[in-house]
Amino acid sequence: MTCLPSLHKMAGMNDLKQDDTFRVVVAGGGAAGFFAAITCAESLPDSRVDLYESGETLLENVLASGRGRGNISHDGFDPEKAFLFYPRGGDSLAPSFRRWRTVDTIDWFESRGVRLIRDPDGRIFPRSGDAVTVRDCLLDEARRAGIRIHTSCGLSAVHALSRGFAVTFSDGSRTLCDRLLLATGYSRSLDGILRTFGHTVVPRYSTLFALHTSDPRAGHLEGVNVDPVSVRVDGQALAAQEGPVMVADGCFTGPAILKLSSWGSSLFQALKYQCRLSISWLPDRKLGQLVSELEQQPASVLNRLPAGVVMSVLAGCGLSEDAADLTETVRRHAASVAAGLLDDPYVIDGMVPDSEAVPSGGVRLDEVDPSTMASLKCPGLFFAGGILDLYGLSGGFNLQSAWTTGWVAGKSMGQDILTV
Ligand SMILES: Cc1cc2nc3c(=O)[nH]c(=O)nc-3n(C[C@H](O)[C@H](O)[C@H](O)COP(=O)(O)OP(=O)(O)OC[C@H]3O[C@@H](n4cnc5c(N)ncnc54)[C@H](O)[C@@H]3O)c2cc1C
Repeated sequence: MTCLPSLHKMAGMNDLKQDDTFRVVVAGGGAAGFFAAITCAESLPDSRVDLYESGETLLENVLASGRGRGNISHDGFDPEKAFLFYPRGGDSLAPSFRRWRTVDTIDWFESRGVRLIRDPDGRIFPRSGDAVTVRDCLLDEARRAGIRIHTSCGLSAVHALSRGFAVTFSDGSRTLCDRLLLATGYSRSLDGILRTFGHTVVPRYSTLFALHTSDPRAGHLEGVNVDPVSVRVDGQALAAQEGPVMVADGCFTGPAILKLSSWGSSLFQALKYQCRLSISWLPDRKLGQLVSELEQQPASVLNRLPAGVVMSVLAGCGLSEDAADLTETVRRHAASVAAGLLDDPYVIDGMVPDSEAVPSGGVRLDEVDPSTMASLKCPGLFFAGGILDLYGLSGGFNLQSAWTTGWVAGKSMGQDILTV
């Protein structure tokens, strides 16, 4: 193993690196930072790996995932089809997803004593039902691999040397290292540093949100929960999404809306969250078929839907909401009621981020080698996890991308050292 001699020559830094041990600094004590640090330390047992976390707590988002159950991955997605699950980065990161798949994540945790279960929808959790099991496994493995962990110690400045880096931390301490991994998640704390290295930081904005409406008809919908519906944004090319929708506190939410907001996050942002949301309350019906059903058996159709939906659709058609002759009203106006049930527009005037929201934006992926996670702008610099302009649908995809990019970066930093 070779050390980089030029590191010793930087004025004032001689005291900081006095031996030939190869040193790796990891900034960020989240899923990506831990996975990269452990992988690197296990690949290169003679190296020294230091992990620095700006906060007091390690692996906080792992603990929050799956509402505390630890939704660490999503079963069985094909790396070649990652673009179906990652609205941002699925295509560019296919080489990484090929190197570290869901099945590798499952094997990694299970071989270290974390028994996992798969929910029917594909989400993977620890059998314990508690994300603490996952956190503790990562802490144990980091300890076993000899990683030195520093909390309340954020990276605050970096200088690239001819080979390697001089790094300064928030407590004033400094160190030299041969390789630097930035895994600081969605925080903007390093945006300035990233730009000095020539990286482009794509602006961050929310990717998972409920849609707020001030439409007077939506008052009828408060509390309804319909599964499935189909939702789309009027007049836009964004694909419609199907699934359950709920209405609460003047907001449309539920899986169909969250998928729409995930795939359409940049569109919604460009529209300043002002648009018309169109809902098909009966997505399995064609217009002609629905018209004849409403003419012949209006009650059987109406009984499939909550009263609030029927009231709102009737109001949208300009029809009386008088329940006494409801079925007769619907029968007489079958064509317009059918059209309203299949294409029911609501004015949207804002958004409310989901508590599990992952922002898009971060380091542009075309400035990173997807098969090593190395910076294409600065030799020796690596990235993993949410710091990248990468996000997936909810359900385990975001932690999977943190494990994948973390493992690839950790492995590559090690291979890089061996070939110096
Ligand atoms: C409430 C919540 C629930 C979630 N649920 C799920 C889920 O169920 N399934 C799923 O797949 N994903 C979920 N996610 C997303 C998932 O947790 C993240 O995608 C993943 O944790 C990203 O890992 P990361 O290591 O890149 O970033 P992070 O987990 O954000 O870790 C980065 C760390 O870097 C630290 N840091 C920041 N700046 C510095 C600095 N200058 N120096 C040193 N350290 C610094 C931060 O304090 C943080 O601890 C959830 C996210 C949240 C917020």
